[in-house]
Amino acid sequence: MNNTPTLELRHLQRTFKQGEIILNVLKDINFSLKAGEIVALVGPSGSGKSTLLQLAGLLERPSSGEIFIQGQPCNQMTDKQRTAMRCQTIGYVYQFHHLLPEFTALENIVLPQMIAGISSIDAQKKAQQLLKNLSLENRATHRPSRLSGGEQQRVAILRALANNPALLIADEPTGNLDESTSQQVFDELMNLVKGSNMAALVATHNVELAKKMDRIVTLHKGTLKEN
Ligand code: ADP
Ligand code: MG
Repeated sequence: MNNTPTLELRHLQRTFKQGEIILNVLKDINFSLKAGEIVALVGPSGSGKSTLLQLAGLLERPSSGEIFIQGQPCNQMTDKQRTAMRCQTIGYVYQFHHLLPEFTALENIVLPQMIAGISSIDAQKKAQQLLKNLSLENRATHRPSRLSGGEQQRVAILRALANNPALLIADEPTGNLDESTSQQVFDELMNLVKGSNMAALVATHNVELAKKMDRIVTLHKGTLKEN
């Protein structure tokens, strides 16, 4: 069995300069996430959850420290290599769906697959199957503006899963939804992840949702604490 963690963060630091002030948002982050594990990232607003997820998702670079994805160090990679790694290995869900407004629900799920080199026909089949899994097949030809908030977020989740990523990163994936829709969409997300061997890191400030995951880590003063 391969014991290499899907995601490993070692002594990660991230500072921001705001005028004359230096903000040490992440001071010393150490973390390991295995295949099949679902971890909740909690912490108050402004504690650095989104910053941490953007580093782990290779959207930003740390000030220092190292990020390993499936054992591969990512800091030394070129932007092109990091983009390829993101495309093949990482699925990302944002708090606001960030679907492409001029494309249909189906096309939004097809596009990342085609970028990864999958044929249009296969990508469409997969997208239709994914939509069907969440009973959204009758929304396939709708643009995001014609979908409800819950539907938009479901499509964004399916888009993130379209390339069967080894690592799923979700930043308050149901944070924009009302309480009952949030619960429902969150349970659907959990079921999709649990049925796979994915590793998932999910930021939430909803304690009830966090408890549904395998493990909870808390951001506190720039470091991570295991609960
Ligand atoms: P959270 O997601 O937990 O609410 P964030 O990661 O968004 O926290 O932000 C953590 C801190 O980092 C905040 O003080 C925020 O203002 C600051 N920050 C985040 N991104 C930037 C940036 N690009 N430039 C300057 N400061 C930033
Ligand atoms: Mg945030």
